[in-house]
Amino acid sequence: METKEGNSRPFENLMDCVRRFRICYEVWPDYEMVGGEKRQIGLALELSGTHEPGIENPEAGCVHCRKLFVAMRKIAEAILPPEGRPSRYEMDPYDQSIHHSHARGDRPDVSLTIRIFHREDFEKPLDACQERCLSEMLRRLKELGAGEIRWREDPGAGS
Ligand SMILES: [Zn+2]
Repeated sequence: METKEGNSRPFENLMDCVRRFRICYEVWPDYEMVGGEKRQIGLALELSGTHEPGIENPEAGCVHCRKLFVAMRKIAEAILPPEGRPSRYEMDPYDQSIHHSHARGDRPDVSLTIRIFHREDFEKPLDACQERCLSEMLRRLKELGAGEIRWREDPGAGS
């Protein structure tokens, strides 16, 4: 069991980032065609953040987007499980675009996807290690205050 003790300052900085950019997360299956059949071989954990309040008409790839992406990378690195497991993790490169998800009230989002793959035998079906890695990452995101799918205070996000 690892703790955040003795390391609470970076953790608090990450919590500030989560709040400032209203970071949410969503989980998606990763599929692959194996022998003509669609098989789930992994999991994708998508982080979505939005421009800080007061920034009007955000543009894709602007300085605010890049700042947000850098913050999300730090969060992603902080929540990754330790190396050396049967699962490995991959972060998608910055896609230079703004996404609008209805689930988050169509707010302008920058996203970062972390994929959980098998280290060996890439096409094996989803296994317990991948699910465990995901649940650990989700636990850390909750500790940091990230929103599950949507940010509570966003308009239209319910309560
Ligand atoms: Zn921008």
